[in-house]
Amino acid sequence: MKLFEDFEYERIDINKIVLEFKELIEEFTNSGDYNEQDVIISKIYILKDHCETMMGLVEIRNAIDTCDEYYEEELDYMDEITPIYEDLNSMFYKALVNSKFKIEHEKKLGKQIFKIADLKRKIFIPEVLNDLSLENKLQSQYGKLKGSASILFKGSMRNLEEMVPFTESIDRETRQEAQKVMNKFYSDNEAEFDDIYDQLVKVRHQIAEKLGYENFVEVGYNRMLRSDYNAEMVSNFREQIYEVIVPFATKWRGNQAKRLNLKELNYYDEPLSFVSGNAIINHDADGILEKTKIMFEEMSEETKVFANYMLDKELIDIKIKPGKLDGGFCSYLNDYQAPFVFGNFSGTSTDVDLLTHEMGHAFQSYMSKGLKPSEYYYGTAEVSEVHSIGMEFLSWPWMESFFGNETEKYKYIHLSKTMLEIPYMALVDEFQHWVYENPHVSSKARKTKWREIEKKYLPHRMYDGNKYLENGAYWHRQIHIFLDPFYYIDYALASTNALEIWGRNINEDKLVWDDYLKLCKLGGSQPFLNAISLANLSNPFENGTLRKIVTPAIEWLHAIDISKM
Ligand code: ZN
Repeated sequence: MKLFEDFEYERIDINKIVLEFKELIEEFTNSGDYNEQDVIISKIYILKDHCETMMGLVEIRNAIDTCDEYYEEELDYMDEITPIYEDLNSMFYKALVNSKFKIEHEKKLGKQIFKIADLKRKIFIPEVLNDLSLENKLQSQYGKLKGSASILFKGSMRNLEEMVPFTESIDRETRQEAQKVMNKFYSDNEAEFDDIYDQLVKVRHQIAEKLGYENFVEVGYNRMLRSDYNAEMVSNFREQIYEVIVPFATKWRGNQAKRLNLKELNYYDEPLSFVSGNAIINHDADGILEKTKIMFEEMSEETKVFANYMLDKELIDIKIKPGKLDGGFCSYLNDYQAPFVFGNFSGTSTDVDLLTHEMGHAFQSYMSKGLKPSEYYYGTAEVSEVHSIGMEFLSWPWMESFFGNETEKYKYIHLSKTMLEIPYMALVDEFQHWVYENPHVSSKARKTKWREIEKKYLPHRMYDGNKYLENGAYWHRQIHIFLDPFYYIDYALASTNALEIWGRNINEDKLVWDDYLKLCKLGGSQPFLNAISLANLSNPFENGTLRKIVTPAIEWLHAIDISKM
């Protein structure tokens, strides 16, 4: 059986791919026979799957070791050829949408691929090729800049991920100092972060203009493949967050200050929930993996097969290593029909969140691998984050094996954290709308605006006189703002449905697992609102949904006796 390290990478010969791809598209367009077109589609997907597998491998191997020069070079090459590949895809989508046998293809492939094809066509014309290359380069530059962080703290050089445990320290001075040195890294590079972002905003605006849009907002929505909701509905959703969750968060932070015996809760205090510390995990990385295996074996037959496959093929890389990219993600390698989970364990309770989250993504793609075409292997971002955050909550019955007598503390922090993060998601989203509606403002004006919106959604946030943060630069650390415009609200939409799953699970609703499994099996074959409706979940855009879902969670938190934590 092939292990991940044996998955073969070879550089894509883009000229050869262009020739073969174009030939197939031409054959497809000229064909007057449905069955013949159907066979050509399969051949095109063999090419597509291979290209995407190679792209995925480069991305993963570069993330595992950003100092590996071979994969760094390959990543640069991928940055260059991705727009050419996108051009080919766009040609294929155009041919598919215009096929004489569209109805027959739709019967076999489903409607969603045609929606995807239509949206993808709207975000690409050959005239934007160079702009897309530049955008890719700038995005990689952001990753490299953050990856270059090497911070001297308590006698050792550390990267940003390695600083995380100190930000949760029970010693206030340590927390404060940890944030101070991290902020120093960001503020030392303030001009560069601002410059990368300024260039990104400008090039994205230019792409939008070339595509015939007024600004980048709609392009961003189309890139996210949103076909059943718009900016107005998102704005109304943010409004609900402001009304329902912001007051809860402010009150919770007030109580947190009392719990920590602080007169004033500063930003560096926020990560610590209790004087006694956050929930402590009893195991190292290997121990966590072992417990995870047992958990999935007990959860269901499907998760049992899945978890053993992931572990046996070494498709999980979560130990912290020098040169590793920060953050966590899940990727899918089409040719091998294999998900891959990447992360950086920090030694805190969030390791368990990271693993259950990314394994949720991986489980979904594992359950959807039989779907066709390969665009359906994973859903749009909001649906996908229900798979992952939903899994975090469905894992609750097994948390005792990770946390022992700290389990209740873990659950209390995990649930409250999920809700406390929602206003921040609204902040990131509102900021981005403003940024792309006002693409020509200065970096200083952007930061002023950030601080203004920050005060709306995080009125309790205090920066203790830190000038860099007071001036509105906190978002420099938010990777999505640079790499995935408009992604962030998807977490808030998904958190809403995941909290719904939490509520049903805690009430021992026997059907919740079936509905979750249904959602996973749907993969990307349905747009967001269809998918959640088929899985018997509520529409977050409807007024009242958020309140209905969040109220029992707030009540659950109130009912917990935290005096002994
Ligand atoms: Zn996720």
